[in-house]
Amino acid sequence: MTYDFDLLVIGGGSGGVRCARIAATLGARVAIAEERHWGGTCVNVGCVPKKLMVQAGEYAAHAEDAHGFGWHGAHPTHDWGAFMAAKDAEIRRLNRLYLTLLEGAGVAPFFARARFLDPHTVQVGENRVTAERIVIATGGTPAWPEIDNARLGIVSDDAFHLEEPPRRVTIVGGGYIGVEFACIFRNLGAEVNLLYRQALPLRGFDQDLRECLADALASEGIRLHPRALPHRLEALPDSERRLHLSDGSHVDSQRVFFAIGRVPNTQALGLERAGVAVTETGRIAVTAEHVTTQAHIYAIGDVSNRTNLTPVAIAEGHRLAERLFGREPRDWSFDPIPTAVFSTPPIGTCGRTEEDAARHGPVDIYIARFTPMRHVLSGRHRRSMMKLVVDSSTERVLGAHMIGDDAPEMMQAIGVAMNAGATKRDFDRTIGIHPTSAEEWVTMRVRTRTAGEARLETALQTPKI
Ligand code: FAD
Ligand code: NDP
Repeated sequence: MTYDFDLLVIGGGSGGVRCARIAATLGARVAIAEERHWGGTCVNVGCVPKKLMVQAGEYAAHAEDAHGFGWHGAHPTHDWGAFMAAKDAEIRRLNRLYLTLLEGAGVAPFFARARFLDPHTVQVGENRVTAERIVIATGGTPAWPEIDNARLGIVSDDAFHLEEPPRRVTIVGGGYIGVEFACIFRNLGAEVNLLYRQALPLRGFDQDLRECLADALASEGIRLHPRALPHRLEALPDSERRLHLSDGSHVDSQRVFFAIGRVPNTQALGLERAGVAVTETGRIAVTAEHVTTQAHIYAIGDVSNRTNLTPVAIAEGHRLAERLFGREPRDWSFDPIPTAVFSTPPIGTCGRTEEDAARHGPVDIYIARFTPMRHVLSGRHRRSMMKLVVDSSTERVLGAHMIGDDAPEMMQAIGVAMNAGATKRDFDRTIGIHPTSAEEWVTMRVRTRTAGEARLETALQTPKI
């Protein structure tokens, strides 16, 4: 049987675009279908506009901090409209760039919704497209809670297109998005309530990190509501919103923002006609090689049951294209995966938490807590914490966790060391760069505790001189 294409990719986001582009450069006849925006979530309603909003919020603090260094002058005001226009222009530039890259590689782009008609045939807008192999890279969309009047609130897709910044906002969800947007809106001057159902935000992250984050959020002026569950949303006069909680209390604000996770885009995709099964959470189940329950159909990125991060989707798409079209796949490591939360201050983390590592054997813990040099003069109460989780018998660094200025930038390099199998001794014998915060990674000489010991931490400040 002959097909229109060797490969059809459904979804023009991070994973799909990379997969299509690499397959085409390897000589395959490739088509890609995208229904909404080239570049997908990351470029349009995710990482990129989010990071620009993080940066927009940082300038207010920079301006305040400059006073401690002798700068004086009027307090600057923020022009939301000008910022949004600049952000949108950058997103449009990236949209065009993604399409240009695809066309330059010889990929046939369809700007339309795709759905399976049978295992090799897909309806793409007005066209019927057949392909020998098909990659599903449809990503996900924000989840809404199942409470009355939830749609009176907003989700992350909306947060990028607000006509004005919220003055008072309630954010539900203590994951990546809830924490990041709490800080963004706070830094832009809003009163922020952050509600989460655990005792601390960021479930699954290292406990010390979570504790430091909660302290930091509170000292930034964010009102924390641990163990809070939304029950019902109500519209009040003047576009006010009242969020009723399951304990009978309520929180009033101008906006309620739900950041309670994402659902995979598998609805109305016709997966049943293609013979592709999903897990009970609706994600597409795949093997280590991204094969679904149908041998010639693959799934990558957020729609599959793997880590939901842009560089992971890109690596999966790249690797799959190489494997399918004849090149020895590039070597990628998916364990550990460094990641960041762009909070204030930001978090960088890689590898195992203390709690997880200690379940597998004895581990030594090294912690440094300090005030970065900048904030000694700025007077801002902003502390940093760095932590290494080390295998007691092999000295291998199993986990690195940091909250503090520049943590995401540092963690990329720490990730390289950890992927190379670095031991605590390797960290210790590396010469520091002085004066930086990063040098703390190589000067944590004194063990804080062995995991499991009572947390009798001696507020360790490693002397640099
Ligand atoms: P997507 O990028 O979501 O692309 C899927 C595409 O498929 C979409 O464009 C969609 O329109 C299209 N599509 C869906 N169904 C169909 C259909 N039937 N037919 C045609 N097209 C279809 N990750 C990070 O690493 N760092 C960050 O800082 C970060 N910040 C984030 C901030 C926010 C607010 C959000 C929501 C996510 C963030 N992420 C971040 C996660 C990251 O955006 C995703 O992991 C990544 O975009 C996943 O890529 P993907 O290719 O799997 O899917
Ligand atoms: P997360 O899964 O990170 O967090 C979801 C939060 O919502 C958790 O606190 C969860 O609580 C809570 N929650 C879930 N369901 C409910 C409910 N019904 N009622 C109240 N609370 C609820 O999802 P996000 O939406 O924050 O982000 C989605 C994903 O996008 C992330 O997991 C990450 O992979 C990616 N991302 C990455 C970023 C980065 O790299 N910097 C930034 C933003 C997103 P509990 O812990 O109790 O389950």
